[in-house]
Amino acid sequence: MAKLTVLKYPHPFLKQKADPVAIDAINNELRQTIADMFETMYAEHGGGLAATQVGLNMRLFIMDGSENKDQKIVAINPEIIERKGEIDDEEGCLSFPGVSAKVKRAEWVKMRALNEFGEEYEMECDGYHGRCIQHEIDHLDGITYFDHLSALKRKMIEKKYKKLMQENAES
Ligand SMILES: [Zn+2]
Repeated sequence: MAKLTVLKYPHPFLKQKADPVAIDAINNELRQTIADMFETMYAEHGGGLAATQVGLNMRLFIMDGSENKDQKIVAINPEIIERKGEIDDEEGCLSFPGVSAKVKRAEWVKMRALNEFGEEYEMECDGYHGRCIQHEIDHLDGITYFDHLSALKRKMIEKKYKKLMQENAES
């Protein structure tokens, strides 16, 4: 197992639209990468992590919103096939440490994806997981939650974020 480096905004790779994972690429090597991603996500106290956040060009994300961090969800080539409602809630991201903002998302989504063995499944969720799915699929399309903010809000948060990053670099 190896901890991976999470790319931080404004790293240009975060704007990368990821390519689908070929079915014959879902092998032991990929499962090792997924294990490394979980190790990284848990170490950073995150609930979700997209492959593009660790510099990998593949449509794949992981999440675990459980309290005991024992409910691993792997989504390869994920797609949202249905969405309902609208809800505003606070959102953060491992690529933007130290800041968060309210983002409008669908309240409920149905996702279709492949698991780490290449088997297709569907998942319906609201709450934390519903929000996380939308956030992570955005990453795979090169979109971050900053892109959902109004110009004014984005400017404010960006200023705060840059200040924090500078302080971290100095300390
Ligand atoms: Zn994120």
